[in-house]
Amino acid sequence: MNDDLSFILNHLGEERESGYDAVVPPIVQSGNFTYPTVAAMRAVVQQEMDRPLYTRGYNPTVAILRKKIAALEHADDALIFSSGAAAMAAAVLSFTKAGDHIVCVHKPYSWTKKLVSELLVRFGVEHTFVDGTDAENYRKAIKPNTSLFILESPNSLTFELQDLSAVAAIAKDHGILTLCDNSFSSPLYQNPIALGVDMVVHSATKYLNGHSDVVAGALAGSAAHMRQVMSKEFMTLGPAPSPHDAWLLIRGLRTLPLRMERSATSADKVARFLEAHAKVKRVHWPGLESHPQHSLAKKQMKRVAGLMSIELDAPDVAAVERFCDNLKNFLIAVSWGGYESLQWPVCALQGPSGYYTDLPFTMVRLYVGLEDADRLIADLEQALAKI
Ligand SMILES: *Cc1c(COP(=O)(O)O)cnc(C)c1O
Repeated sequence: MNDDLSFILNHLGEERESGYDAVVPPIVQSGNFTYPTVAAMRAVVQQEMDRPLYTRGYNPTVAILRKKIAALEHADDALIFSSGAAAMAAAVLSFTKAGDHIVCVHKPYSWTKKLVSELLVRFGVEHTFVDGTDAENYRKAIKPNTSLFILESPNSLTFELQDLSAVAAIAKDHGILTLCDNSFSSPLYQNPIALGVDMVVHSATKYLNGHSDVVAGALAGSAAHMRQVMSKEFMTLGPAPSPHDAWLLIRGLRTLPLRMERSATSADKVARFLEAHAKVKRVHWPGLESHPQHSLAKKQMKRVAGLMSIELDAPDVAAVERFCDNLKNFLIAVSWGGYESLQWPVCALQGPSGYYTDLPFTMVRLYVGLEDADRLIADLEQALAKI
């Protein structure tokens, strides 16, 4: 029963007999590993993906995490990175060359957008951003040189879904690879690979770790795809995580189902409260029946997690700031997926940078953490009254 969730999170890959029979895996905080003979070293050099030689490539603590993430995402193998952005960049670079064309969902995570629209352009890779709410838009954007589809469902800030099996089928018809950012749902609430997508990327900083104390990423896919990324981008760019961060992630994973259940259940209450409030014009959360893609969410996601955006009925930025500054339980900060509820006002990042100008200044992203839902709702209620 290696695919049983509780087994994966609590035991898979831990081989306790090789770590002093300690219940908790040791942090193998070693940069390099030694061999009794030249022949033994030669054998390991050939298999750097699966054997300890040098921690940039393989580390026993990180290896436990690789096995768990791969099993969670129905993949053969996984690689762990020092950030989610590094995982995304390594995967995209590995399957793209000069002259290729990428089709990417519009309004993806900001650094995915910069990777595609700024960095790759310097190396002669073209791109098209598409409204992913209609899978046909992916088909229409295909050119003879299209090599990769990038998905992020739901996408950042506006939480629009892509029909993962429909887009994956279009890609397969045309011999195009698919890569999906699954950070929002975590492997618990959505499995893109089971729906036909080739590779999944995670910001492990978010739900997977869950304690706001690690920045990390993960990539999962077939053995051949992971071997390619490992032998090229992973080893040359060097985004290996520290063994200690891998250990914290293993610990965070133990409670992933409990944390997500709490966050999603509270988010449901918070979203319904906000939807009914006169000062909230719109709630972007696919768990609501009023969300235009609610039925697709029910089809391809097991549940809808605890991140949403709202649009306030606020006349100006000052009114938005009154709401935000008066929220006591939602800390003003980037990121999400930890224990603490957070708010991220779009207006804080508009302005000189020229970024996010395609979004309304009234938009605030809310992350519902592990605090009591009624406490969070009371906090929102008093802050909405200050608009
Ligand atoms: C945070 C985030 C990323 C980037 O991950 P880091 O760990 O911050 O590098 C990528 N995609 C999504 C959806 C995110 O929320």
